[in-house]
Amino acid sequence: MERTLSIVKPDGVRKGLIGEVIRRFEREGLKVVALKMVRITKEEAKAFYHVHRERPFFESLTDFMSSGPIVPMVIEGEGAIGKVREVMGATNPKEAAPGTIRREFADSIEANIVHGSDSPETARFEIGFFFNALEIHTRG
Ligand code: UDP
Ligand code: MG
Repeated sequence: MERTLSIVKPDGVRKGLIGEVIRRFEREGLKVVALKMVRITKEEAKAFYHVHRERPFFESLTDFMSSGPIVPMVIEGEGAIGKVREVMGATNPKEAAPGTIRREFADSIEANIVHGSDSPETARFEIGFFFNALEIHTRG
């Protein structure tokens, strides 16, 4: 059983897509085992996305991610990391496959509705960034 971190980003929350994102994960048999709504600071956004600190989009991305409430959640299931990324679609909505969240709802490569961890190591860091052990509810 694998765990991953997903986030409904500020644009997804603004557009009323929290339920839509969750529905698409649950439809794939994935389980939500932790969930909250928070607003992170610019500094927290920089810490979360530290792997991208040298990239040209880092300043803009961290402004965007701290621009409003977000909904981080821990998703559990077989192959959860890959499944979540499949449901999300490619980073650039123009390149995302038809039927994916980003293709259907995203406005740009930055404002692309949803986040998903890209590896087990990243998932561990990202889950721990938002949740402690008591906040994660393993389900049968
Ligand atoms: N991003 C951006 N411009 C780019 C690439 C990425 O603004 O050229 C943003 C976008 O919001 C993306 C996030 O930075 O989701 C993290 O980038 P990554 O390459 O990790 O994409 P993801 O894993 O989210 O598909
Ligand atoms: Mg990524």
